[in-house]
Amino acid sequence: MGERDSSDEVSRSRQALLELAINEVNTAIYVTDAQSRIAYVNDTFTSMLGYEPADVIGLTAREVFGSTRYSDSDYARIWSQLGQGRTVTMEVRTHDRAGREFWLTMSLRAKYAEDGSFLHLVGALENTTESRRIQSLQHDVLEAVAQDAPLSEVMTLICERVEAMFPEVVASVLAVDEDARLRPLAAPSLPAAFGEAIDGLAIGPQAGSCGTCAWRAASVTVVDIATDPLWADFKQLPLPLGLRACWSSPIMRTDGRVAGTFAFYFREQRGPSPSHEQVVNACLQLCVLAIERHEAAARIARLAYYDSLTGLPNRAKLREEMVKRFDDSASPEAALIFLDIDHFKDVNDTLGHSVGDSFLKEIALRLRKVVWPQDIIARHGGDEFVIVLEGATAPRARAVAEALLEAISKPVEIEGVSLPASASIGITVCPADGADSATLLRNADTAMYQAKREGRSTFRFFAPSMNAMAQERLLLGALLRDAVVNGQISLHYQPQIDARSGRVSGAEALARWHHPALGFIPPDRFIPLAEDCGLIEEIGEFCLAEACAQLRRWDDAGCDVPQVAVNVSPIQFRNPALPETVAKVLAATGLAGSRLIVEITEGVMIDSYPAAVANATELRRMGVAISMDDFGTGYSSLSHLAKLPVSELKIDRSFMADLEDNDAARALVIAIVRICESLRLRVVAEGVETIAQRRFLETLGCDVLQGYLFAAPMPAPQFAEWLAARAAQTAAQPVTPLARAARLLAS
Ligand code: C2E
Ligand code: CA
Ligand code: CA
Repeated sequence: MGERDSSDEVSRSRQALLELAINEVNTAIYVTDAQSRIAYVNDTFTSMLGYEPADVIGLTAREVFGSTRYSDSDYARIWSQLGQGRTVTMEVRTHDRAGREFWLTMSLRAKYAEDGSFLHLVGALENTTESRRIQSLQHDVLEAVAQDAPLSEVMTLICERVEAMFPEVVASVLAVDEDARLRPLAAPSLPAAFGEAIDGLAIGPQAGSCGTCAWRAASVTVVDIATDPLWADFKQLPLPLGLRACWSSPIMRTDGRVAGTFAFYFREQRGPSPSHEQVVNACLQLCVLAIERHEAAARIARLAYYDSLTGLPNRAKLREEMVKRFDDSASPEAALIFLDIDHFKDVNDTLGHSVGDSFLKEIALRLRKVVWPQDIIARHGGDEFVIVLEGATAPRARAVAEALLEAISKPVEIEGVSLPASASIGITVCPADGADSATLLRNADTAMYQAKREGRSTFRFFAPSMNAMAQERLLLGALLRDAVVNGQISLHYQPQIDARSGRVSGAEALARWHHPALGFIPPDRFIPLAEDCGLIEEIGEFCLAEACAQLRRWDDAGCDVPQVAVNVSPIQFRNPALPETVAKVLAATGLAGSRLIVEITEGVMIDSYPAAVANATELRRMGVAISMDDFGTGYSSLSHLAKLPVSELKIDRSFMADLEDNDAARALVIAIVRICESLRLRVVAEGVETIAQRRFLETLGCDVLQGYLFAAPMPAPQFAEWLAARAAQTAAQPVTPLARAARLLAS
C-alpha cells in the first residue's frame, strides 16, 4: 500500500511539475478529446487569448478560432498529414476574446491508440501578432518609399503605425543635417510647436535624448526627464504634455554616420520593453532606407534639374515649376522676366569657352542677388535666364528689370581682362500677357527680342503688337534671303557738299530693297532684319563692293566724285575679316583707300571688343576714313571717341529739325563742332533741309553738308545727271557771294 502511496505521490508531484512547466511556457496549448473537442487549455492560452477554460472546453478548435483561411479540402489534407504522424504548422488570423486581431502560428500533432483510433489533438500556439504587424508595417512603408512619397510622409506613417501598436508611446523622428543640427521629420502626436522648438538645435553631449543620441551615435534612455541632466535645458517642452520619459535610438546610415533619431516618449517613468526594441529595430532599418533613398532621389533630381555651371535650376526644372504655378492653378499674379546677355557669342568666339563659362557664372551670381528667395531664377539656355516673380505686378517687374540691368552693367573681370556686360530683358505679366506658362514665356521672349532691336541693354514689356511684328519679321527674313540672291538690293547715292567750296565732296551709298510684289522696303526696316537673321554680312559686302565699283565707273566716265561713304553695321565691323574684305574690294576696283569712307555707329563702341579697335586701326592704316554716324543719339559719349581712331563725325539728322527753334539742340551742335575742331575731326551735318540750317552750319564752320536741300538719295545714273547739271550751272555762273545766294534761294 505504502509503495503504492509513494508511487502515487511521485506521479502527483510529477503532474504538478508538468503542469507548472506547461503553464509557464510562452506557448498556449490546447488538447482535444477523441471527438476533436477541446478538453484542456493551459494558463498561457488564457492569458494570450483571454478565454477562460470554461469558455472553450467542449468546442472544436475551428469553432474557437473561426479561421476562414482554410477550406474543407485543406482540413482533409491536414488530417491526412496528421494521420501519418507528422506535425502540421498553420498560420491563423483570429481574434481574441476582446475582439482584437490576432495572429497565431499553430503547431498540431495527433495522438492515436495502438489500434489506430484517434485519441487527442495537441495544439501549440505561438503569438506572432507583433512580427506580423512589423511585417505589414514594413510592407506599407516600403510601398510608400517605392511610390516616392515625401520623406516626412513616410516617417509620419511609421510613427502612426508604431503608436497604433503601442498606445503608451508617442513617436518622433528627427533628421540630423550636414551642420549637425536636428530637423524634425515626423511626430504626428506632438504639437507643431514642439517640432519648431527643436528645429535647428545642435546635437551635443547634453542635448535631450535625441540630440545626445545623435551625438553619441548610440541609443539614450532617459527614464525621468524631470531630473535627468541631459534634459536640463529642454524639459519644459515634454513635461507640460505629460511626457516623462524618452528613449531615443540613432538612425545609422550604411556608411556609419548618424542620419537621424527615432524616439519613443512615455507618459510613465520607464524605458523600452523587449517588444518596443524589436519594433524599433525594424523601424530604424526602414528609416535609414527611406532617408538614403530620398537623398539619392534628391541627388538625381539635382543632376537632372540643375545647371551644373551656374547651379541654377535648368530649363526642365523651370518648365516643371511654371506648369505648377501657371497651368495647374488659376492664373496667379506673377511676372516673368526673360533675360538674354548681349553679345555673349562674341565673348565665347573671341575669348574661348572657358572665359565664356566664367562670364556666365559671374552673371548668374549677380542675377541671384537681385531676386527674392521665393522667386524662381533659372538658366533657360546658353546665355538666357528666366526669372519668375511670385505675386508681382508690372511695377515690381520694372524695378527688378532695372536692378538686373544695373547689376549686369558693371564690366566682368576675368583673368585680368575687363569685359563689358549688358543684357536685354523682356517682361510678361500674368494674366494680362498670357495665362499659361508657354504663352508667358513665348511673349517674354518676343519682348526681349524687341529690347534687343531697340538698342539692347534695356527692357521691354510685352505688347500684343510685338507678335504681329515677330511674324512679319519671320516672313520678311525669308523674303530678304531671296532678295540678296535675286539682286533686289541696290544702292542709291546722296551727295555730300563741301561747306566752304560748295563742291561735291562725295556720296553716301544707301541700300535700297525693291521687292517685285511688296514694293519699296526702307533700310530702317530691312537692315535691322538683316542683322537679326544673319544676312547683314552678305548685304554689307555687296554694298561695299558695289559702291566702290560705282565710284570706279564714275572715275572712268569722268564724273568728279572724290569719295564714297559706305554704311557698315556693327556686326560687320566686329568681324576680324573686315580689313581684308576692304583690301580686296579696293584692289579689285583699283581705288586708293582714301577714296572710301566707312560709316559706323556708336553701337560699335558700346561693345568695343578688341576686333573693332583692331579693324579701325587697320582701315585707317589703309587710308580709309572712318566716320562716326548718327552722332548725338543713343549712348553718346565723347569718351568713346578716344577709343577708336575715327576721322569724321556725322551729327545726327534729328538735330537739324530742332536747330531753328531749340536752344538746347543748337548748343549741342555748337559743342560738337567745337570739339571736332579741337580733335581735328571732319564734321558732317546730315539731314540739312532748309537754307536757314545751311546758313547756321556754314557759319559754325561745319565741314560737309548732306540733305534734301541739295538732293535726296538717287540711283547712280540719276546721280550722274544731277552732278552734270550742277557742274553746268556752276560753270555758267561763277561762284560770287551774290550768285551763291541767288542759287540758294532758287533751290
Ligand atoms: P543713315 O546712315 O543716317 O542715312 C541717312 C538717312 O537720312 C538716309 O535714310 C537718307 O535718305 C536720310 N536723309 C538724307 N537727307 C535727309 C534729309 O534732308 N532729311 C531727312 N529727314 N532725311 C534725310 P535711308 O536711306 O532711309 O537710310 C536709313 C538708315 O538705314 C541709314 O541711316 C543707315 O543707318 C541704314 N542704312 C542704309 N543703307 C545701309 C547700308 O548699306 N548698310 C548699313 N549697315 N546700313 C544702311
Ligand atoms: Ca550713314
Ligand atoms: Ca546718320
